[in-house]
Amino acid sequence: MFDMPDYDGHESVHWFHDAATGYRGLVAIHDTTLGPACGGTRMWAYAGADAALTDALRLSRGMSYKNAMADLPLGGGKAVILGDARTQKSPALMRAHGRAVESLAGRYVTAMDVGMSEADMETISTVTRHVAGFAQKGRTGGDPSPMTAWGVFCGIRAAAKAGLGTDDLKGVRVAVQGVGNVGFDTARHLKAAGAILTVADVNEANLRRAAETLGAAVMATDAIHAAEADIFAPCALGAILNDATIPQIRARVVAGAANNQLAVPAVHGAMLAGRGILYAPDYVINGGGIIRVCGQIYDWSDEAIRARTERIGATLAEIFAAAKAEGRPTHEVADAIARGRIAAARRQKAA
Ligand code: NAD
Repeated sequence: MFDMPDYDGHESVHWFHDAATGYRGLVAIHDTTLGPACGGTRMWAYAGADAALTDALRLSRGMSYKNAMADLPLGGGKAVILGDARTQKSPALMRAHGRAVESLAGRYVTAMDVGMSEADMETISTVTRHVAGFAQKGRTGGDPSPMTAWGVFCGIRAAAKAGLGTDDLKGVRVAVQGVGNVGFDTARHLKAAGAILTVADVNEANLRRAAETLGAAVMATDAIHAAEADIFAPCALGAILNDATIPQIRARVVAGAANNQLAVPAVHGAMLAGRGILYAPDYVINGGGIIRVCGQIYDWSDEAIRARTERIGATLAEIFAAAKAEGRPTHEVADAIARGRIAAARRQKAA
């Protein structure tokens, strides 16, 4: 593991097996300087243990950065369960995973990710307290999507200010790719602020909902990135910013909710900057969801969660200003600030 390209000084990696259920999983803890490691559990039919480990190493580091940029008292971690969520999942297997999380005694708190449902999280919560990000009796919070969308909206305003010279979204044309949980809510906030919307979605019902309730124009899913718009908001898939799409983007700003938007960050972040397109780093602008999850862990009020989410705009403004001053792509600047925050906290702890 120490020689793998995605190993980044991770504090620990824990492998688990339960003979009775066939459960095989692992938890990667990247860094706990800022607080207990927090990140979702992903259940996926990995090609093998190496592929699962690579994913967990990469995603747990991403959570350290995301939590640091959201200014949360949380470190970065990620759990993966090896298996097909459609055919291999059972309550007993979920409990085995919960016991694995519990054995880490709070150094890792799990939330939801690909392949997991609210019902699974509830099952996990019967054997461990170290779980968050879904509706739990007696605790604030639940579905993080509405807070994610509010943060994305605040982030789009900050990006408009830096990239278009105004944070008044009246008459600003926004192309939204994917109007599911987060995309639709973001589009709703944009509409309320006077933006002119164009949307695309592979799901007919979601597309109709956005067109009918928000008066949005509709475009083909393979053309929305090239829409005649001021802002492109990817709210569906990862890797949407790539060799093929970037040359076709007409918008001056890219700011949306989707995770891992840059196909190859070093290549495509620079390509966007080279074209003069302002990119809001995805893990910063979509931090509202993890802020909501953190609020549940620490029992913060809704007002405190909302106020922290609204600070995403200021964080992005700081990133845009530094990127401009230093002539660097925004994603690089965000990574550097995140690493700097963790390093500063480590020095303070050591002092
Ligand atoms: P979702 O499944 O509710 O919505 C995604 C939407 O995108 C769906 O309507 C789907 O039909 C559509 N879609 C899929 N493929 C498409 C394509 N090729 N073209 C256009 N539309 C397509 O998911 P969500 O919770 O709204 O999350 C959206 C994105 O935001 C994801 O990348 C997710 O990882 C990220 N994100 C979500 C949260 C959260 O709180 N839910 C937090 C952080 C990041």
